[in-house]
Amino acid sequence: MEDKLNKVVSLCKRRGFVFQSSEIYGGLKSAYDYGPLGVELKRNIAAEWWQNMVTEREDIVGLDASIFMHQDVWRASGHLAGFSDPLVDCNNCKERFRADKAPQKKVGDPLTYLKGGKNGAQELKGTVPSVGYICPKCGAGDLSDERQFNLMFRTSLGPVDFIENLAEAVQGKNYTKKELKQVFEEILTPSSVYMRPETAQAMFVQFMNVQQTTSMKIPFGIAQQGKSFRNEITTEKFIFRTCEFEQMEMEFFVEPGSQTKWHEYWLEERLNWWKKYANNPEDFNTREHEADELAHYSDRCFDIEYKYPWGWDELEGVASRTDYDLKKHSEHAKTKLSYFDPVKIDPESGKTGYRYTPYVIEPAAGLTRGLLAYLLDSYTEEKGVDSKGNEKTRTLLKLHPRLAPIKAAILPLTKKDNLPELGRDIMKKFLASGIAAKYDETQSIGKRYSKHDEAGTAYCLTVDHQSLEDSTVTIRDRDTTKQERISIDEAIDVVQKRLITL
Ligand code: ATP
Repeated sequence: MEDKLNKVVSLCKRRGFVFQSSEIYGGLKSAYDYGPLGVELKRNIAAEWWQNMVTEREDIVGLDASIFMHQDVWRASGHLAGFSDPLVDCNNCKERFRADKAPQKKVGDPLTYLKGGKNGAQELKGTVPSVGYICPKCGAGDLSDERQFNLMFRTSLGPVDFIENLAEAVQGKNYTKKELKQVFEEILTPSSVYMRPETAQAMFVQFMNVQQTTSMKIPFGIAQQGKSFRNEITTEKFIFRTCEFEQMEMEFFVEPGSQTKWHEYWLEERLNWWKKYANNPEDFNTREHEADELAHYSDRCFDIEYKYPWGWDELEGVASRTDYDLKKHSEHAKTKLSYFDPVKIDPESGKTGYRYTPYVIEPAAGLTRGLLAYLLDSYTEEKGVDSKGNEKTRTLLKLHPRLAPIKAAILPLTKKDNLPELGRDIMKKFLASGIAAKYDETQSIGKRYSKHDEAGTAYCLTVDHQSLEDSTVTIRDRDTTKQERISIDEAIDVVQKRLITL
């Protein structure tokens, strides 16, 4: 089944969905660029989310916050002290990995692995160490102790020459390692800023500004999409885990005591949203966090999981975060981050008018991870026979038409006899109806069908000589390959209907 991932990776490169970053320089590990089709798919997923979470709802408003935030934001939120993963080194093959994601094994069980993790090297024997996991790369149990590695990328704001300042500070001094670390920290800290590791914090920090400018009444939410950055110990599985990625998060502020009801509501909403665009909705599911997985501030959390080729894994987290974030920022910034309900009775005083710190439900989805899930969900191989009776495989992306980068490809049968002119006219009609259409006259018609099958193009419209006479085209459905001759206006209706019905 891992094979499916390789096939999707290769289709992404072949058709221009995703490229390795800086490829001509040998590529940058774990960084990816979204090509002409990928950027459209990503924007379509993001647009569907925004439509569903913000545009169509009276109780959610949007935000687009800066990636850099005051360093005290991360001090208050706990990210500076605790946004870390347990890092382990393999003493055998030198792999660096996350302890909590390593293969779990029974302590004391025998192990055989290759010295240095290299093929053809001497075979070594060992046992599973007391930590209960082994190296994910070479399978050895000869591991370093775990140490916490902070995932935030640190940089500095302003024209500060650190190298110069550091050199000056240590010149001629004989510091111990501990002293050096302290000196460096003192120099670096004042101008340090961090690339945000999640989009969520801005929604807490701007809670009062948003609430007061919009007069939103609780329950209400603030939503945001954008880039996040995590210096992940192991980047893996194509775009599943990368250091730079995109998130779609929403903080829903509720009255204390109502969080369980709202948590259940959002879990169902979000699961159904993912399923709505899927060919195999049964591959999307929820999993409740065990008590030992729960963040200390969370009173309940579920992951929405997708059945990736390597098994069920996270796609979105839906957490009940209590009043932790607003309270922490309120404490650190010495400001009020609360809500006043003039009608409600204060449960403590019994008087009308109730001020409280709202509780928060957070559905936090990965946009780039979601794009991978939909590529995997839509990747299809169909066996068939060609016109000469030879076996052939048709590869297609059965992307939901609303997500498909191209909804209709307009293909003139030949490049002469005014067919290109008519084709371009038809494309303009589609574009005027708000449908993403592309004119394409390269290669044979069969090759163009195959190309658009792999691009996930929902419909191909072929313009031939008859089209010149009676304003009809043949419309080919990507999923069934059925072709019908219909009028150009009808073709616009067919595509539009598929886009409206969800
Ligand atoms: P994980 O346990 O996989 O590291 P997480 O639980 O830390 O993820 P959250 O902080 O809940 O992730 O982030 C919300 C969502 O953002 C995740 O469900 C995932 O879809 C996405 N996400 C998080 N980290 C990454 C990453 N490094 N690359 C791509 N997407 C990510």
